[in-house]
Amino acid sequence: MNRPPSEETPKIRLFVTADLEAGAPVRLETEQAHYLSHVMRMRPGDEVALFNARHGEWRARIEGFGKRQCDLVATAMTRAQRAEPDLWLLFAPIKRTRVDFLVEKATELGVSVLWPVFTRFTDATRVTTDRLRAIAIEASEQPERLTTPEIRTPQRLERVFDDWPVTRRLLVGDETGGGRPVAEALAALPPGPAAVFVGPEGGFAKSELDEMRDLPFVTTVGLGPRILRADTAALAALACWQALRGDWREDSAL
Ligand code: SAH
Repeated sequence: MNRPPSEETPKIRLFVTADLEAGAPVRLETEQAHYLSHVMRMRPGDEVALFNARHGEWRARIEGFGKRQCDLVATAMTRAQRAEPDLWLLFAPIKRTRVDFLVEKATELGVSVLWPVFTRFTDATRVTTDRLRAIAIEASEQPERLTTPEIRTPQRLERVFDDWPVTRRLLVGDETGGGRPVAEALAALPPGPAAVFVGPEGGFAKSELDEMRDLPFVTTVGLGPRILRADTAALAALACWQALRGDWREDSAL
């Protein structure tokens, strides 16, 4: 589909914030520079791929290393920027290792926004968005994403719908059996932006589910007869959306 011939893109891909265009100088600092020089043992003249979520993906040549930096120059575009699926994941912060796993895998599955939401039965009291952002960036560098997901500021459930864009459909994972089977729910969705929301390990409170069910953009969905852990449920729902409504389809037009 959109994959370029693999020999065209250098294996190492890094996310940068600098503008990318032919001849543009790019300076990598600290960790990325260390990664190229000490971990990957790259040398001046070697090439990497860079992307910045705005200007596509670029081949870039290493010009030289400083003490804590690496200077490159962008040489040629290897992939043009294109639209990616507009799919958000809202999740109740769970245990640290599971959140880290969830953020990495959801990024691979192509989510555009990751939004921690505190619900009544959420155990975690805080979540470190900087760490999640670093995990998401690293995960974006592995698969051939051209963007990195935005990590939203954690929010309480009561506030999440204050500015909710009404055209964005929200699929809420309902493990109590009250939801529509996910494939059916997805088939019935109008085209357009979407979001998936899974509760914490203790599930949503009944009142939370009831209130969400009443919102015009919400569909509660069932992911089968087994109760899944929150991270499994989130990834299963995202995979279903990508397969049926997202860019896993041959005819996907975003
Ligand atoms: N309340 C449950 C566990 C919740 S599982 C208990 O303790 O028995 C965590 C979250 O994953 C749920 O809030 C729901 O959003 C999602 N989930 C898990 N299994 C699901 C299923 N079979 N269908 C839909 N959502 C599910």
